[in-house]
Amino acid sequence: MKEIKYPQKYDVIVVGAGHAGCEAALAASRMGCLTLLTTINLDTIAQLSCNPALGGPGKGHIAREIDALGGEMAKIIDRAGIQFRMLNTKKGPAVWAPRAQTDKRQYQAFMRQSLEKQNLLQLKQMMVTDLIIEKKKVIGIKTNTNLKIYAKTVILTTGTFLNGLIHIGETSMAGGRLGECSSLGLPKRLKKLGLKMGRLKTGTPARVHAATIDYKLFDKQPGDKKPSPFSYETKELKLKQVLCYLGYTNKKTHQIIKRNLHRSPLYSGKIKGVGVRYCPSIEDKIVKFPDKDRHQVFIEPEGRDTCEIYLNGLSNSLPQDIQIKMLESIPGLNKAQIMRFGYGIEYDFVDPTQLASTTETKTTQNLFLAGQINGTTGYEEAACQGLVAGINAVLKIQKKSPFIMDRTQSYIGVLIDDLVTKGTNEPYRLFTSRVEHRLIVRQDNADLRLGELAYKFGLISKRRIDTIRKKQELITSMINSLHKTQHGNNSLAKILKRPQIAFADIRKIKPGLKKLTPEIVNQVEIEIKYEGYIQREKTLVNKLGKLENKKIPERFPFHKIGGIKKEAREKLSKIQPRSIGHAMRISGVTSSDIALVLLHIERAAKK
Ligand SMILES: Cc1cc2nc3c(=O)[nH]c(=O)nc-3n(C[C@H](O)[C@H](O)[C@H](O)COP(=O)(O)OP(=O)(O)OC[C@H]3O[C@@H](n4cnc5c(N)ncnc54)[C@H](O)[C@@H]3O)c2cc1C
Repeated sequence: MKEIKYPQKYDVIVVGAGHAGCEAALAASRMGCLTLLTTINLDTIAQLSCNPALGGPGKGHIAREIDALGGEMAKIIDRAGIQFRMLNTKKGPAVWAPRAQTDKRQYQAFMRQSLEKQNLLQLKQMMVTDLIIEKKKVIGIKTNTNLKIYAKTVILTTGTFLNGLIHIGETSMAGGRLGECSSLGLPKRLKKLGLKMGRLKTGTPARVHAATIDYKLFDKQPGDKKPSPFSYETKELKLKQVLCYLGYTNKKTHQIIKRNLHRSPLYSGKIKGVGVRYCPSIEDKIVKFPDKDRHQVFIEPEGRDTCEIYLNGLSNSLPQDIQIKMLESIPGLNKAQIMRFGYGIEYDFVDPTQLASTTETKTTQNLFLAGQINGTTGYEEAACQGLVAGINAVLKIQKKSPFIMDRTQSYIGVLIDDLVTKGTNEPYRLFTSRVEHRLIVRQDNADLRLGELAYKFGLISKRRIDTIRKKQELITSMINSLHKTQHGNNSLAKILKRPQIAFADIRKIKPGLKKLTPEIVNQVEIEIKYEGYIQREKTLVNKLGKLENKKIPERFPFHKIGGIKKEAREKLSKIQPRSIGHAMRISGVTSSDIALVLLHIERAAKK
């Protein structure tokens, strides 16, 4: 069949308009590059394939960092949100995490609006089946209609679609999501490029009709009275929040599942892909926690103008008749009418240790990968990789130094560093526990940490950076004046350190103190109350910074260094760490290996 060359050449082509693709395309076009966003179906842009909720521990932190870096997700959450909660408020601020239920249709519609009105960004519905490669460089894409489109860089964000295979009980069918085809051509090309691939699995629960649920039997889960916005640009959230509900499975449910495990593709061995450890299917929960006589089921509306309900906690790939029996066994859901059955999906992913920290592949220049294709799971995890890939594709075109955040700066820095340094053999999710410096890398200060970077890339406006600088000024000056101002024998700062004392109490003591916004008061209170811990953390970060700044020359000949263990030599040669700090984080590399590397770097530098 005759190949057709598309007349327009682009700076950046993004393949896939999921959560990663949308952020990548918006970042690249906002940084001034002509960008094409291709996707199999324009009507499923930014689809929330699984739960209608965004945020929570780790994920809420990422969403706020995306916002601080000029990304789109947080703004859309504030517009499409139908319930907002700040989680973990009984614990320290390091683990406070915003979470929102969203209206899925509105979320997609608002994201599509942002894409359609964006300058230098074109949207096209097409199935990309191949990449055009020249001298180990990607120079374009090819579609299933034999169209060739050329570009300086290509970003693949194909999600769960690569060789996607859907399972419902004994039935299996090709698909990237239920009702959508899978992506077949690209996996072959990626293997040809020498990229090692693996197989992962995820799953989703049934959706049922709201009118067939007996809510009286469940506990109400309301939103916060004073909902906190995700975006730093949202002044206030004014909305009528919806309710979610909490129920439980029971022994009868567990028996039904146990008796039919042989018909579950997960336990019949049909599914080969590795599943999500921290978001297990109900089959896994029954098998892994046999002593538990009940598991939580959260009943979450999928939107304001739909009766579709998401049953969080009942993700499964059981046969349809068993899914029906399972719901019949749960009082309140026993008459629930299933609108969509739960299913499992397995798909190909690329081992992310084959990527640089910019998300560019090491095998093929100008080819970037972001999202689920790199072995992560979650809308937020995908979106932040898309943002980083979009920014770095542009910086590559502009021949500017790459955008790499380290572990001390952000959750996104930790996520990417974990992927490219340690890789993953199960769907990777980001939790607060993975972030060593979570006391200073919090959801409330992402704008103060990342605002200057975003402004440098032209991803936030002058007005916004001025607001952030003003905020920082007000925080610093108030902290200084609280330290300097005495009240009796104590400084006001010392008084504020007392757990029961809030800034409002200090203002009663010193009414002349400047009136501050709740957001700034929150910063001042955290910085003062956790001052000792924060100082210690900052000292440690500075120490680590020195190691992180000890650069290792590109393509360093680790294989030539004698005395290093075989495993360490292989891993160092494969991962090619960019700094001593990076090398130290590679599992299997010991401090004596690092000492030898340092020695050889100094020798090489002298030569
Ligand atoms: C069944 C299911 C259950 C899930 N369960 C969970 C869960 O429990 N918890 C969780 O955190 N996350 C879950 N997820 C994952 C979550 O949906 C993803 O993490 C997130 O959507 C990944 O975003 P992404 O941008 O990488 O890819 P996706 O959102 O999957 O988007 C990929 C996009 O690429 C397009 N595309 C693919 N191939 C091509 C091609 N060749 N040409 C053009 N366009 C292409 C697709 O049309 C799609 O628009 C689940 C996903 C599914 C499908």
